[in-house]
Amino acid sequence: MLFDDQSIVFLDGEYVKLKDAKPHFFSQTFHYGNGVFEGMRSYETADGTRVFRCREHYKRLLEVAGKLRIQLPYTKEQLSRITYEVLRRNGLSQAYIRPLAYVGENMTLRSTQQAHLCIAAYKWEKLPGDKQLSLMIASYRRPDPRSGIQNAKICGYYVNHILATTEAREKGYDDAIMLDVEGNVACGSGANIFIEKNEVIYTPAPGHIIKGITRSVIMELATAMGIKVVEKSITPQELYEADGAFLTGTAIEIVPVGKVDQKPFKMVWQDTIGHMLSRQYRQLVTRSDNYQHTLI
Ligand code: PMP
Repeated sequence: MLFDDQSIVFLDGEYVKLKDAKPHFFSQTFHYGNGVFEGMRSYETADGTRVFRCREHYKRLLEVAGKLRIQLPYTKEQLSRITYEVLRRNGLSQAYIRPLAYVGENMTLRSTQQAHLCIAAYKWEKLPGDKQLSLMIASYRRPDPRSGIQNAKICGYYVNHILATTEAREKGYDDAIMLDVEGNVACGSGANIFIEKNEVIYTPAPGHIIKGITRSVIMELATAMGIKVVEKSITPQELYEADGAFLTGTAIEIVPVGKVDQKPFKMVWQDTIGHMLSRQYRQLVTRSDNYQHTLI
């Protein structure tokens, strides 16, 4: 159970029970998907609870909300403080945090002045497992970058991702990989993708993807370890012929991919760079000295 009758959320300046935080039926977000969300994770460290890359997530949320003309009256520092308060009020330490910026009632397609912000959180202790996913390349693709705002977790964009995941699950796979409009590998259904070949790691270049915060941390970690990281277009064939592959995202951290379209990768996960990076990432998120001294 992600929540119960006692769960508290932040909604437009107040802390209220989740069961009372109800959007209006005519919310433009509900009907047309005009909203933006983030996903963050908090960890128990020696110095207490810490939200990983909190301000970076809020920077992205505020930037995208601005582009959607959803005017949020908060700074990223205020939002960080509110997030710690949501965790405190719910007695949470290891949690998944979901801020959602949405708009009020509006049945037209014009932008609306009524902006709302809700921040919810629930317990999330999942460890990065070594279970290797069986993925399929979905028939649904990432939208053309010219069809909207890139690098954004906009609510409506996720319908394609739901279609892709559903298709994969119905065919017996764990999840989907999505191609971009040009037919190159873009991402997992809710994650970035990396492949490994001859001790180099490759990931799709920005343009058709969300530049995940976990993706950039993995790239930094790899570079610091002397591992070459290349951002480039990756064809499905290059993916099939890789030595290994893994997905990255805030909620899942690093997850190994065992096979794509029934084709297994050559290397044993435990021998890959991905496996090494997943261990490094765990250390990074759970060590308090990797966080800023102030809570925000
Ligand atoms: N791409 C997509 C499509 C996503 O939905 C996500 C996260 N849910 C990511 C990438 C990873 O982003 P981050 O590392 O910032 O969580």
